Order: sequence, then C-alpha cells, then structure tokens
Amino acid sequence: MEEDICPNGGFCTTNCPRRMDGSCALTRTKLLIYTVVVDVLAKRVYSENYMNALVFVSGPERGRAKVAVSCGRDGCHNYLYMSELQYVDFSRSFFKKYRKIAIPCCSKTCQDTLLTRLKDEIDFSDPRFNPDACIPTSTD
Ligand SMILES: [Zn+2]
Repeated sequence: MEEDICPNGGFCTTNCPRRMDGSCALTRTKLLIYTVVVDVLAKRVYSENYMNALVFVSGPERGRAKVAVSCGRDGCHNYLYMSELQYVDFSRSFFKKYRKIAIPCCSKTCQDTLLTRLKDEIDFSDPRFNPDACIPTSTD
C-alpha cells in the first residue's frame, strides 16, 4: 500500500514518511502546484498554490492524464506534473477568463525567485497593460 505512493503515482505531502528521510526519489507528483500569477487587470504579481488536479483523477487514469511541464523559473530545468486540463487552464483559460497568467514552478524556492524577478521586471505602468488603451502600432 505504501509502495503505491512513491514511484511517480502518488502525491508529495508532508504525510509521506519518505519525504524527510532521504529515500524520496523527488519525482513524485506534488500535491500543490506552486505558481506565480500575473494579474493583468489588477496589475499585480503574486504567488498562489493550487491543488494539483491529478488528485481527482483515479490512479489507473493518472498516467494518461498527466503532462510534464517545465518549471516557469528561467534557469531551472525541473519538470512538474499536472493534468492536461489544468495545464490548459493555466496557459490559456485563466487569461481568457480573468486576464491572469499562472506560471507553474517546480518548488517553493523557484516560486519565490520568479515572484521577485517578475515584480522587478514587469512595469504595470506600461500603457500596454491598460485594457482601455488603444495604442496604434505601425507593424502589428
Ligand atoms: Zn524550478
């Protein structure tokens, strides 16, 4: 029963005895998805953790439902796993519905780093963030 948790099929929670004792392969699916959210309308960047939707997929179906997504922090080459539907939510539906972009990260550390970077980089006073502005452009 315990074995079922470890080899990629399970979820990484604080309840897992292998999480702290070093025997964790670190390839398990994280229960929470650490994301950095860019809210274009509210003009703010913040971190938010989402429940991994794979938790709602039955064990046998999980392999087919999951996709590997590379960590959103530039310079990190780790992958995280989520359901294909959740990936579509993050990459497209959030923007379409709420004008938010959710960038998933592999860890809390990457989430914090990316949050700091984006807070520095994104200039919400840029008129292109103004949804009411209609800026004529010459080429596009
Ligand atoms: Zn990362």
